[in-house]
Amino acid sequence: MNRTIFVTGTDTGVGKTVLTALLTRRLRAHGRPTLAVKPFCSGGREDAEALSAAQDGEVPLAAINPWSFRAPLTPLLAARRAGQSISQTEALDFLRQARRQCEVLLVEGAGGLLSPLGEGYSLRELIRGLRGEAIVVCPNRLGAINQVRLVVASLPPGAQKNARIALMATAQPDHSAASNLRLLAEFFGPERVHSVPWLRDVAPPTITPHLGHRLDSLLRPQ
Ligand SMILES: [Mg+2]
Repeated sequence: MNRTIFVTGTDTGVGKTVLTALLTRRLRAHGRPTLAVKPFCSGGREDAEALSAAQDGEVPLAAINPWSFRAPLTPLLAARRAGQSISQTEALDFLRQARRQCEVLLVEGAGGLLSPLGEGYSLRELIRGLRGEAIVVCPNRLGAINQVRLVVASLPPGAQKNARIALMATAQPDHSAASNLRLLAEFFGPERVHSVPWLRDVAPPTITPHLGHRLDSLLRPQ
């Protein structure tokens, strides 16, 4: 069965690209036809380049990231500055076409779930339009419980029911780290809440068995 998995987050810079790249490598290692895209980039295309590397350079950058804007602002504003406007229909068409080319489509959002991507829509509307699944990425630190609950509550109802949460370990965990995982598991069920170990290298060339197991759990259909 084809799957479309959106990787969103509680904020910008929380580890969406790292996780999307890891999931891409893992799925490819399992032999699953996978495509990882980041439709919108603003302020640089590093994220799309990381996803390209995770796909061993086999996918042209334009097919990973059709829209990039110079201004380091949310895509709606960055596009306005460039005198451009990408409609929701265009964005959905791009994703539908990408989905036809693979078994698992991973879509990295830009910013957080409600960061405006274009006039009248954010990642939420794209998830709804494609009836996609969602993974919510959040750094495992004080504040995570509130942030994760806010994002999950803002997902379209279909995606809300089976959303998974990826708590990204930080270099220096605070006192909340262990209990965040437990309490979120109480709210959402232990099968939906997963921790991802802290990684020195954002794109490790090899995935350890421990990390691989975590990634497989995150990918397990709910
Ligand atoms: Mg990113």
